Order: sequence, then C-alpha cells, then structure tokens
Amino acid sequence: MRMLLAGNWKMNGVRASLAEIRALGRALADEPTTAHVLVCPPATLIAEAVKAAEGTAVSIGGQDCHGQASGPFTGDISAEMLRDAGATSVILGHSERRQFHGETSAIVAAKTKAARRAALHPIVCVGETEGERASGRAIDVVTRQLENSVDADTECEGLAIAYEPVWAIGTGKTPSLDDIAQMHEAVKAALQKRFRGAAGTVKVLYGGSVKPDNAAPILALPNVDGALIGGASLKAADFLAIIRAAPKR
Ligand code: PEP
Repeated sequence: MRMLLAGNWKMNGVRASLAEIRALGRALADEPTTAHVLVCPPATLIAEAVKAAEGTAVSIGGQDCHGQASGPFTGDISAEMLRDAGATSVILGHSERRQFHGETSAIVAAKTKAARRAALHPIVCVGETEGERASGRAIDVVTRQLENSVDADTECEGLAIAYEPVWAIGTGKTPSLDDIAQMHEAVKAALQKRFRGAAGTVKVLYGGSVKPDNAAPILALPNVDGALIGGASLKAADFLAIIRAAPKR
C-alpha cells in the first residue's frame, strides 16, 4: 500500500511559512517519492498553500471541519469549504480537539461523514492516554474509539486512521516498536471486522513524536502505512528526512 506522510502544522504558520511548502515541493521534484505527501496548515493558509504546492507532489489538507455544510456556526469551517479552498484531506478527531474542544467520538463520526460528503479523505485520529496504557486498556480504548468515530457505512476508499497515543504527541516519547506493531495489528483487525473486504484500502498511520531519527524503524513496521507528523513537519528539511526514511511502496 502506498505510504501517506501527513504533516499537521496545528496552530503554527503564517504566510511566510509557505516557503517551507515551496521548498518541500522543489525537493520532491529532485527526489521523487512513492509516498503521498500531505501538509495540513492552519485554515487561514489553506488556499495560499494550495497555490504554493501547485504542480508539486505535495497535497494540502485541513485540520478539522464541521459536520454541517453551512449554517450558523460561528468560527467553524465546513468540509465543503475546505474542498472549495483546494484541500484534498482533513484530519479529524485529533486528541487536541477531543481534549480542548470536547469532541466526542460521535461528533468525530459526524465530521467523518461530512468529509466523505465533500469528497475529502478523512484522517481519523484515535489514541489512548498514558493512564489507559498503564492500566492495560490501550487496545480496548483505541478500538472502541475507532468504532464510534467512523460509522460502519463509511466509504473506505481514501480513509486513513491515525493511531496517536495521547502521551506521545509533542512529548518526544514514543511507544516501543512492539507496542506500535501490536496496536496497528489490532486496528487493522477492527477495520476488517467493521468493513470486511473494503478495509483493505484503509491506511493506518502512526503519529506521536515521529522525527527524522526514529522514522525509519517505525515506518518499516508491518501494518504501518504512514505517519501523522506534528512538530517535525514544520520545516521542509525535517519533513523531507522523514519522507526519505519511508519504505518504497
Ligand atoms: C500530531 O500533532 O498529530 C503529532 C503527532 O505531533 P508530534 O509529531 O509533534 O508529536
């Protein structure tokens, strides 16, 4: 399966930061990759980022969307609006949104539906807290989150699930390679149970402190189809080093 390497800029980036997208695009022209490379900048930059990435191997995505197409939802952005701005994908249910915006899995499921309605590829995030892992509940928590965040009738083509342990995001900590492999196997099995044959197209990404120096062994694990990368996606050079580390698939 083709790898997906998705950069999540979170609430970082102003127009000057678009230079990083241009630099990434130029580098990928010199050094083509078999991976799908995606950058998800803040909403204010999406339209400009699409222009900066035009003609390059870089795609642009959003970091969240509302479940409705339009309406009285001050401050929100719909999947249709992201699509109109040129986004091709959208990150949904990131733990920062679950934690700081009270997003439940039911809300994430509605957003996933909205993304499909607007022909966007959803990247649905799931992950356990440190306490949940310590108490041996990580796999149960993650598979339940997955079931509740993606309805069973969701079109699988272009869908990705990002396994992001909450305690590994932005902390420099990562689970052991065995723990990542075990969780990805469990997520693939849960997808198979839910979507049967269609599950074969769903990518399962790892996210949480992926850096140039740890990317290669993580991306080489079975059932790891790519990564969701926060801090290390902000600079083209770091992101490129991770892209280089990805196995050719
Ligand atoms: C993320 O924000 O999804 C993420 C994985 O962040 P970081 O790579 O910085 O841990």
